[in-house]
Amino acid sequence: MVKTARRTPQMKTALPGPKAADLIARDAKAMSPSFTRAYPFVMERGEGCWATDVDGNTFLDFTAGIAVNSTGHSHPDVVAAIQRQAAELLHFSASDFYLPIYAQAAAELSRIAPMSGAKKAFIGNSGAEAVEAGLKLARYHTRRQNVIAFLGAFHGRTMGAVSLTASKAKYHAHFGPMLPGVYHVPFGSEGLDEIEQRIFKRLMPADEFAAVIVEPIQGEGGYVVPEDDFLPRLRELCDRHGILLIADEVQSGAGRTGKMWAIQHWDVEPDILLTAKGIASGMPIGAMVAKSDVMSWGPGAHGSTYGGNPVALAALLATIRLLENGLIANAGIRGREIQDGLRPLLGRHPGLVKDVRGKGLMIGVQFDSGATADAVQMQAFERGLLVLEAGDDCIRMSPPLVVSQSEAATAVRIFTEAVAHVATHRGQDIDAVDQEREAGLIAEGFGASG
Ligand code: PLP
Repeated sequence: MVKTARRTPQMKTALPGPKAADLIARDAKAMSPSFTRAYPFVMERGEGCWATDVDGNTFLDFTAGIAVNSTGHSHPDVVAAIQRQAAELLHFSASDFYLPIYAQAAAELSRIAPMSGAKKAFIGNSGAEAVEAGLKLARYHTRRQNVIAFLGAFHGRTMGAVSLTASKAKYHAHFGPMLPGVYHVPFGSEGLDEIEQRIFKRLMPADEFAAVIVEPIQGEGGYVVPEDDFLPRLRELCDRHGILLIADEVQSGAGRTGKMWAIQHWDVEPDILLTAKGIASGMPIGAMVAKSDVMSWGPGAHGSTYGGNPVALAALLATIRLLENGLIANAGIRGREIQDGLRPLLGRHPGLVKDVRGKGLMIGVQFDSGATADAVQMQAFERGLLVLEAGDDCIRMSPPLVVSQSEAATAVRIFTEAVAHVATHRGQDIDAVDQEREAGLIAEGFGASG
């Protein structure tokens, strides 16, 4: 076996470097100011778990473009599939004509979806589009209007999806009124009691609800893993009232948790599955898979010009092959190693680190405050590790599923150093983050999004 030296992050400049600072200034002039930039990282190119910025600094990427680059940056199999397909056909709308690769991808999505029996798939371009499709289908099929979603949930930013989202109030600010008929309850067993006791009893009868939409593990809300009985009880509640269960696996799916779908950790079958992000390694795909008897709408009910773009679908097919041929298993193994490596932080910094949680490579570390999480995130960045906040006070780790044992160990070491630094320089670190904000290098308002 060839022995390779352990790769570590390489910093050639102070951060942000001169090219990054220049780009950030130009970006501020031209870009929509609606984005929340976590810290001044300016990506140029990537390879596997490594990301190189415009100044040539190399970082270990534990964000994967918000849990998207499942097979790593520019996996050769994915790149080859994209190149082959691009040379053959770039676009031909599957909404109006037949497209072989669309039928193939829909069959593959149906094969891997976590429901028994016959299934059908609709393919769009993003997570939010998958959510919209699921919402529309649920209303169409049940002829009911109302929907239940969970506090802390993130389902996207289009009008329907943002109405289901309840992770941060700022996503709703000045956009109201939201879609009517959406009821939010706490995530977890407490929420189930609220559905039965408060909503169905006092507000709206159960037989007027089309669907419950749930992230089996909440993503943007803070990588929150529910109690073990939550999803089985939710399934039972839906069955009892003829309500469809929609699993939003946009962030938790595509092998990230060590199973193809997070909901499979609890042996629960949804009626409708939503996927996007990691399922096509970074090419824009969002898909909704439903049991065939649920997908009861007719021609014209739904469609998309670009949805099921052949190049993106070539990436999806290559991604599914890679996931099934080792990456899902790797996610489980590496995820356990990383969590085991991070857990000592709880004992070492009991006032600061409140929880280490997750499944597979969907790992959250909760701190005593958002300011601490922000400071740790900055310290990790300074040391060459990219991580991303989630929820009010968490940092999420969502590395590519190709992450190796030595890359996992390097990330744990850097993160541990970052936490130790913040623990000993608490006030100063939080001040430093404020100064970066004042310099316009980080968007005001804590938090990444998505
Ligand atoms: N659903 C979940 C669970 C998500 O995490 C996201 C994005 O982060 C979305 C939906 C929306 O996906 P997109 O940003 O592709 O529209």
